[in-house]
Amino acid sequence: MTKIGLEIHCQLTKLESKLFCSCKANYRDHEINSNVCPVCMGLPGTLPRLNQKAVEKATIIAMALNCSTPEKIAFFRKNYFYPDLPKNFQITQLNIYGDTSVGGPGMIMVGDKKIRITRIQLEEDPGRLIYEGSSSKNQITLVDYNRAGTPLVEIVTEPDFENPKQVREFLNILSDLLENLNVSDPSLEGAMRADANVSIEGGNKVEIKNIGSFHDLEKAVHFEITRQESLHSRDIPIAQETRHWDDKRKITISSRSKEEELDYRYFLEGDIPWITIGNEIQEKLKSEMPESISSKKVRYVTNYSIPDQVADVLSSDKFYSDLFDKSHTEHNAKEIANIITTDLMGLVDTREKREESKLQPAHLNELADAIQSGKLTRTSAKNALYEIVKSGKELNQVISELDLGNVSDTDELLKIIKQIISDEPQAVEQAKSNPQTINFLVGKVMQKTKGKADPKLTLDLLKKELG
Ligand SMILES: [Zn+2]
Repeated sequence: MTKIGLEIHCQLTKLESKLFCSCKANYRDHEINSNVCPVCMGLPGTLPRLNQKAVEKATIIAMALNCSTPEKIAFFRKNYFYPDLPKNFQITQLNIYGDTSVGGPGMIMVGDKKIRITRIQLEEDPGRLIYEGSSSKNQITLVDYNRAGTPLVEIVTEPDFENPKQVREFLNILSDLLENLNVSDPSLEGAMRADANVSIEGGNKVEIKNIGSFHDLEKAVHFEITRQESLHSRDIPIAQETRHWDDKRKITISSRSKEEELDYRYFLEGDIPWITIGNEIQEKLKSEMPESISSKKVRYVTNYSIPDQVADVLSSDKFYSDLFDKSHTEHNAKEIANIITTDLMGLVDTREKREESKLQPAHLNELADAIQSGKLTRTSAKNALYEIVKSGKELNQVISELDLGNVSDTDELLKIIKQIISDEPQAVEQAKSNPQTINFLVGKVMQKTKGKADPKLTLDLLKKELG
């Protein structure tokens, strides 16, 4: 039996400042080594000041993952020497005096499978090492400390996953959940990193470190299972070891360094007192939590009779559910859900496209009304949406500029219909004996009018003409 456990590092990218100083949490937009101060550089005589919002956001994550949240939390020093760590220790959390990390045991359902969460801890991210040079002879390593001290949440699971597919499903759920909580943007480079441990047939546990994205995590786990199965089938023992994920070659490689827990000489961080997160604060945080994905889904299905699958897609993506919630009325909710899930998703399928999109909730509202009132066909509405996303123009302006208005003039339509009837004698005969095939002729009218014919009027006129 295969057992997989995960350790996920998630940056709290929505915060203003770093975990223990007032440098920016968004380290990405700064010139290299400019987002630093004496505190995050660990200069002698400086003291850390804990970012309250970071504790709150980490606690909210713990609550959303059904973890226990202790009344008192503590911080520890993890001592190790490495160029990315200016202080030579990392301030993190550890459960040696009982559960003193922000989150205790919890669980989350992935389909029918229960995945247990071991703990959730808040810690600081180290700096970033940049490797340059093409061969081993001229290789140099550069270090950028802009990231050092930014808030990071570590989510540790029990080895409850049995295959890479479950891992992927869990990561999808987790990444939607973090985005919905407004704590992190999983699409930012480096915002989500992970370690995994994998064992098969009750054998030794192998740890894979250094997996830079959720996408690679599934690949790394898959590779490691295949590697272990191959060794097992040839009766070669599987060594208990740490391996690194090589994201260029897409394989795991044995790493020589053995880092045991004891080597870190953990001790209580004396510069930060124990923090009390009492009942009152916990209740307040709970009440301020954004509506959960599952509750959104139930609301969409019950209030607006939106089909299950559409509600699933809509609720699990914060960008779309926010758009939907800000744009719909009781009468056009279903139409808006339809526009978002069939047309909009293809237009703004990347982070960049979403940022560039000029679409406002009011646009969607008008567009849905225009479809429902028969002012626009769905095909024309799709063309209008494309233009609005690009330009942000008013719907009426787009309709007149692109000449999208419906052909709903009876005489004009009748002329086109008569033409089609004389062009398609075979289809006309068929439609007379089998009324269901009339859609073929409707389609022809649509083709002729470039999708602008009022569909209901077209059908009525066609039926009349065919007797
Ligand atoms: Zn700083």
